[in-house]
Amino acid sequence: MLPISYHLQQIQGRIIQTCLAANRPANDVRLLAVSKTFGKDAIQEAIHAGQLAFGENYVAEGVSKIQHFNTTKPTLEWHMIGPIQSNKTKEVAQNFHWAHAIDRLKIAQRLSDQRPKSLPPLQICIAVNVSGEESKSGVTPEEVLALAQQIESLPHLRLRGLMCIPEPAQGLEQQRKPFALMRTLLQDLQNKGFHLDTLSMGMSDDMEAAILEGATLIRVGRGIFGDRHYPPVNQG
Ligand SMILES: *Cc1c(COP(=O)(O)O)cnc(C)c1O
Repeated sequence: MLPISYHLQQIQGRIIQTCLAANRPANDVRLLAVSKTFGKDAIQEAIHAGQLAFGENYVAEGVSKIQHFNTTKPTLEWHMIGPIQSNKTKEVAQNFHWAHAIDRLKIAQRLSDQRPKSLPPLQICIAVNVSGEESKSGVTPEEVLALAQQIESLPHLRLRGLMCIPEPAQGLEQQRKPFALMRTLLQDLQNKGFHLDTLSMGMSDDMEAAILEGATLIRVGRGIFGDRHYPPVNQG
């Protein structure tokens, strides 16, 4: 087994190579290490290798890690990348820095209401269903503008951009299509006066395609930590 530091370096190399090909500065793209199902030791190893931003999918699992590292590593940045149920919004508002998978006003409203006044606004991405799959969460491209306008009016949230999880596709050209749509959607919002700087897209298997289409935040799990072998104990 190669160490996590090695895999992080490999991913950083892929980011740099792809940015070069896309004519983008390499520091345009931030790497989120998706640590769901992995323990504190693995996270500690990634921290040692210089990784500072982590993504979690399940509230209880994420909060337990955040609280564990808060005392020793208060500068880490924690991103809730999974969908949030309304009975979990308070824990998210109190602990995380970002929430990526927002697709309902009700959840956004609760996060804003429950965000402690002592903390900076919670950073938000709207989840877009770019593949049109029935089962997936996310708003349709047509619904993005209305939700963006509503979120902008919430005092304790700060809308940063859009996120997506396209259905798996083979080959770079196929993978690029949904990401290209995301790029257009962000551009449309920017043209309407929204100050947005984030496209949260690209995972272990499609990060190159996402970067070529303007991703600013890629979410990589298996490429850093290896395969996920067990389901999370607490699907909070
Ligand atoms: C698990 C997950 C990832 C990471 O996926 P990998 O294929 O392990 O890189 C990224 N984004 C979201 C929303 C996820 O749930």
